[in-house]
Amino acid sequence: MKNQALKISIAHLYPELLNLYGDIGNIITLKKRCEWRSIEVNFEEIHVKDEIKEHDLYFIGGGQDKQQEEVADILYSHKDFLSKERDKGAVFLGICGGYQLFGHYYQPHDKEKLKGINLMDAYTIAGKKRFIGNVTAKTDFLNPKTIVGFENHSGLTYLQGDTKPLAYVTTGNGNNGTDKTEGARFKNVFGTYLHGSFLPKNPHFADYLIELALEKRYGEKIKLLPLNDKIEIDTHNSLINKAY
Ligand code: GLN
Repeated sequence: MKNQALKISIAHLYPELLNLYGDIGNIITLKKRCEWRSIEVNFEEIHVKDEIKEHDLYFIGGGQDKQQEEVADILYSHKDFLSKERDKGAVFLGICGGYQLFGHYYQPHDKEKLKGINLMDAYTIAGKKRFIGNVTAKTDFLNPKTIVGFENHSGLTYLQGDTKPLAYVTTGNGNNGTDKTEGARFKNVFGTYLHGSFLPKNPHFADYLIELALEKRYGEKIKLLPLNDKIEIDTHNSLINKAY
């Protein structure tokens, strides 16, 4: 039996600028895991000149400081719309540079502070050291609990208020290399420093996001049918606590 006649709309924000280290793999994973279950995907790339329409799930990838500077002001111009989307239960996933812009600001080295869109109560300041390497972190809501990926950032992100960590690192640095947190969640807004890309190696989290997006669209919990994830989970397991 398939997840018949279900639909989901996904927006990829600024792929021409924020799409570092194969972050497009996250979009491919979300689309494929829906299509394999006969869930119709309405997919839209949003470029800097485009209006942003209503979607169930918004994705934004990572980028160097320069690309973040090119995106920050235009993203900020959509902040009120995106906050309303967040409050309606839309799902957001931001990777690294995109994640940093979900907070109040990102302060690069010796440059103008970049305004964030305040989807979560967090802020980022460029650190002296660049964190580059494999990351394993433990969540308290996924099965398996682990998430794995690759980090490459100098930004140090600090969470405040009701914005909670996505996970706690067991290998690697995560948000800032000191408080052991990795990523963040507020409502259905998720951020992570994990590239690699992230979702292909964490199919359980991809499905978690798809189920949240379906719940936002249909107003009820919809359990996804299981897929044969042997290859994905073997890959995931091979990366758990892989040396930094
Ligand atoms: N430029 C940001 C930093 O260095 C984000 C990097 C990234 O997206 N990988 O922290």
